[in-house]
Amino acid sequence: MYNKNNVFFKIINKEISASIVYEDETVIAFNDINPKSKVHILVVTKGLYTDFSDFVQNASVKEIQKFNQSLNNVIQQLKLDKTGYRLISNMGTDAKQEVFHFHVHILGGEPLNAM
Ligand code: AMP
Repeated sequence: MYNKNNVFFKIINKEISASIVYEDETVIAFNDINPKSKVHILVVTKGLYTDFSDFVQNASVKEIQKFNQSLNNVIQQLKLDKTGYRLISNMGTDAKQEVFHFHVHILGGEPLNAM
């Protein structure tokens, strides 16, 4: 169950500021406050979904397609497709998800450790 009392909902609604790098009607993307690599961006849906499973099960095909296009827009804007990047989406307890509003981490800007 989605709970609006989370920091990303407040960032979307401009109640809390963030270092925004990209925004359109589908997503808002901003720098992670605790970066794990030189470039660490969070791409956050404007739709109210708790995590990847909620998003894929409940968003429309069009919304899912638009999210992926917006995610790719961020990647291209930052030219990460030239050098490479990693996408991560934490879901639930085992992944230690902290913010229960669906988002994808983009990591890059430098060589990353192998997984
Ligand atoms: P997770 O839910 O596990 O994918 O992690 C949430 C991420 O949000 C963490 O990497 C945090 O550093 C990041 N974060 C939390 N609050 C903020 C904020 N106000 N601005 C930017 N990033 C944030």
